[in-house]
Amino acid sequence: MNISSNKMVVKLTQADWDRARTNPLLMPELVKAVDLEDKAQFVSSVEYHSKTIGNGLMLTQPPISSVLGESGGKSRIIILPLARHLQRVQDFLGFLIDHEGAHAELNYKHPRKVVPTVTRETIELVLRKGYLKAFRMINNQGESLAFQNQLANLDKRGRNSEYYAITVLQGLRDSLNLTY
Ligand SMILES: [Zn+2]
Repeated sequence: MNISSNKMVVKLTQADWDRARTNPLLMPELVKAVDLEDKAQFVSSVEYHSKTIGNGLMLTQPPISSVLGESGGKSRIIILPLARHLQRVQDFLGFLIDHEGAHAELNYKHPRKVVPTVTRETIELVLRKGYLKAFRMINNQGESLAFQNQLANLDKRGRNSEYYAITVLQGLRDSLNLTY
């Protein structure tokens, strides 16, 4: 793979992924170049951040328009250092495209479902629970939908390793707040 050009969009191979995940200096260029398949139209950029945030692999930042409840805005996807622990390229692509891409699609099409709109209830919830907890509660619906989209695409292009399936199922369970 040649990722010297900014505009190049590439299908990642396992060898590309192995090189980048073991050498973080390659990550910014690599994530920028990944082909986001059917989700590309909902994403403005994919960036690598070298600082860890909680135990997250990656996250999707909705555009301001989406936060205000307007559809049609593209999201920014941030890849975090823990994503480099994913060994299989298809697991990485599954989280990037089938999970974060699903968030981006929801932000684009149905912003009210996944981001807090400024209502009295939202304000009260934020004041009562604190921003992080309130946002997590409001965001839960979008989280389950993203995990469900991963499950729906489990067999697509080999995104079906045991590790991947277990991680996705755990994520879905947590997002639904079920206890066994
Ligand atoms: Zn998510």
